[in-house]
Amino acid sequence: MFRLPMVSGLQPYSPDTAAKTSRLRGATVTASVCPYCAVGCGQLIYTKAGTLINIEGDPRSPINEGTLCPKGANTYQLSTNPHRVTHVLYRAPYATAWETKPLDWAMDQIARRVKDARDRGFVTHDAKGQPLNGVKNIGTLGGATLDIEENYLIKKLFSVGLGVLSVENQARI
Ligand code: SF4
Repeated sequence: MFRLPMVSGLQPYSPDTAAKTSRLRGATVTASVCPYCAVGCGQLIYTKAGTLINIEGDPRSPINEGTLCPKGANTYQLSTNPHRVTHVLYRAPYATAWETKPLDWAMDQIARRVKDARDRGFVTHDAKGQPLNGVKNIGTLGGATLDIEENYLIKKLFSVGLGVLSVENQARI
């Protein structure tokens, strides 16, 4: 009968290899939810010094028990990706050409236009005289790449902060 030779106490690892640890050791771990679809798989977000280093399935989640589908398993590249767009294309009213603008410029434009629209559309009472304090001329539509924290802030800002009545997202988390 064939027998495996006895393994000695020495292992074929160099001291360098033996001293190596997981790159996740010492990282801050934050529990979150996959942003992509309504299954709502639990994720663990690993950061070091505020920099995202890894995202993986949360084994404590009763939904996915540590697993992620191929899309969810690549959530890391949502944030860390050399192909992320860092500018906007803007076409002014009646213009025929697009202009490249920085993101900060776009943020200022959005803030200004939301403020102007809200000033025009804020309604204190409805047609029956009931208090409304709502805004019907602005709506928001989120997408599946918004994470749970961003959706929380959007809901808080637009509903409670600005009184916007139409706050929607295609994902159902
Ligand atoms: S990991 Fe896949 S199945 Fe789970 S929530 Fe994300 S996209 Fe949906």
